[in-house]
This record gives sequence, structure tokens and C-alpha cells, in this order.
Amino acid sequence: MTSRRNFMQGSVAATGMLLAADAVIAQTGPGRRRYADKLTDDAGKYAVAPLPYAYDALEPVIDAKTVEFHYNFHHKPAAVAANRAEEGLAKARDTSDYSQVKALEKELSYQLSSHILHSIYWTNMAGKGGEPGGDLARAISGEFGSFAKFKAHLIAATTSVEASGWGLLGYQPASKKLMILQCENHQKLTAWGVVPLLMLDVFEHAYYLKYQNRRPEYVNNLFGIVSWDNVAERFDAARS
Ligand code: MN
Repeated sequence: MTSRRNFMQGSVAATGMLLAADAVIAQTGPGRRRYADKLTDDAGKYAVAPLPYAYDALEPVIDAKTVEFHYNFHHKPAAVAANRAEEGLAKARDTSDYSQVKALEKELSYQLSSHILHSIYWTNMAGKGGEPGGDLARAISGEFGSFAKFKAHLIAATTSVEASGWGLLGYQPASKKLMILQCENHQKLTAWGVVPLLMLDVFEHAYYLKYQNRRPEYVNNLFGIVSWDNVAERFDAARS
């Protein structure tokens, strides 16, 4: 890692997911496998990429109205708010007025993490479900005992997230381990350096129109639309 990246790690507190996305983008050298989520526009401002499918593409597991509202009114505003937080921090530097620095750093961590995780979530879905193959399947069996144990563990972790958050499968290059984590809100309970591979959103906005309080049913059904190809691409990039 370069000193610049170490500096960035220290300066953006409590945002392991930000590090994770940074690590993915850092794979883009010659000869390296790459998987980079598009998080910014040409001007370097955070911007939400087009949804990679129609609103109804995840039916019947996730209804079109939920996808439409989730993408437009939960994901998109996060990118706007992350830009606003960075602009606020720039103004603080210019004016030497750091009276709002704590709130701005918290806002940046929360909103940028939301943008990162939603960008991953959309691409993780619209698949055929089933089970992964290849290296990812072997790594899951090696780490968790079997796909069935992995699935039961991930479902249990995801359904029991306190209030709003995510369940996830991640890979930590430093330890070469796959791991299941819970994430509260968008930025809490990470282990630093973990690259998120599969994100399961359990904010109520992700399922309440169709499932109301039945979070476990929604989480179980998500396994029917996971794109294991997308998860495997992310796994390959994180290991290379
Ligand atoms: Mn969400």
C-alpha cells in the first residue's frame, strides 16, 4: 500500500467498506484482474451508475416498486450527500472552521458507504441463484464447511442485523479468508480491509412493501436471484 492510501485510511474514520472499494479499484494494473464499481462521474464527483436492469427484473423476489424507490430515493441521495459532506470538509479546510468536522466525517462515512454497498448490491442480484462453482465454491466449502453451512450462517447473520444494515460475504486479502459479517447502517461492524463480495440489504426500504416484517422470508428468497458469477468476479479481483 502506498503512503497516500495509508493516509486516506487514517483520515476517513470507521469506513472499512470505503477501504474495500479502494482495494478493488487498486487491482487495475496491467495484467491484473479487475473489478471496479463505478462510483464517480468524469468530474470525480460521486454519482450512481445506471441500474443494470429494469425495475421489474428482480420480480417476484423483489417487486418493481421496491427497486424503483430503493434505487432512486435511497441509493441516489447517498451519492449527493457524500458529495455535500466532502464539500463541507473542503470549506472547513479553507476557512479553518472545524466546528462541524465530527458531523461531516460521520456523514461522509455513512453516505459514501451507502453508495458503495448499494452499487455492489445491484450487481449481486438479477442472477440465477443456485450455488457458485469453481474457486469460489471451493473457498466457501473450505472456510465454512459446506455451501449449506455457509448459506445458513449468512441467512442467520443477515436476518439478525440490529435495525438497519446488511449481511455480507467478504474476502480479506491480508488473511486470505472469506468471512461473513454483519453491518449496521452502512459503515459499522466491518473488519478493516475486508472486500465486500456479496451484500444483502436488510434496511426496511429493501423489502417492506412486499414482505412487511417478514425479513427472514425476504433474505431466504434473495438466494434465488444472487448472481454467483458477479460474486466470483469480485472474489477473483480481490485475490489477484
Ligand atoms: Mn438499501
